[in-house]
Amino acid sequence: MNLTKLKENAQAKHKENKAFLDRLKRKKPKNLDVVLNEIHNEVFNKTNCLECANCCITTGPMIIDKDIENIAKSLKVKTGTFIEKYLRKDEDNDWVFKTMPCPFLDSENLCTVYENRPKACREYPHTNRRKFYQINHLTIKNIEICPATFEIIEKLKNSIK
Ligand code: SF4
Ligand code: SF4
Repeated sequence: MNLTKLKENAQAKHKENKAFLDRLKRKKPKNLDVVLNEIHNEVFNKTNCLECANCCITTGPMIIDKDIENIAKSLKVKTGTFIEKYLRKDEDNDWVFKTMPCPFLDSENLCTVYENRPKACREYPHTNRRKFYQINHLTIKNIEICPATFEIIEKLKNSIK
């Protein structure tokens, strides 16, 4: 699915998806973690993130202190220098990249700090986490950004009624 089409499709399904995620939160199905994990693996086994990179292009991760230490160390610069060059505080007072697309995304969609990438990048789009309904506010945004998340939610709707 191309990314313009993804946004259109996600917006068309916004109401339905929101109602589904709200229902998950209310009902907390016992088999949710297992079913979601299977669907996550199935979808990501056939997803080539290098052909997409839309998360790295559009959505800045939250960057925690440990990420700052790790990336600064890998770049062989002081944490203060790293912060000054690359980071800003967002409206929630969290560190995020000053500019997007991410400054560490190269022209072939590779992450140049891959081994030390932020925790939020490693866990994105969080579709294999437990108690998935706790992050409904993020998932509803990610459905518009990440084609894999869109597909995972479509499959989940068919698996958990
Ligand atoms: S640090 Fe790497 S994985 Fe994270 S947004 Fe930047 S390019 Fe993507
Ligand atoms: S937006 Fe989703 S499918 Fe695209 S690169 Fe990121 S995780 Fe992979």
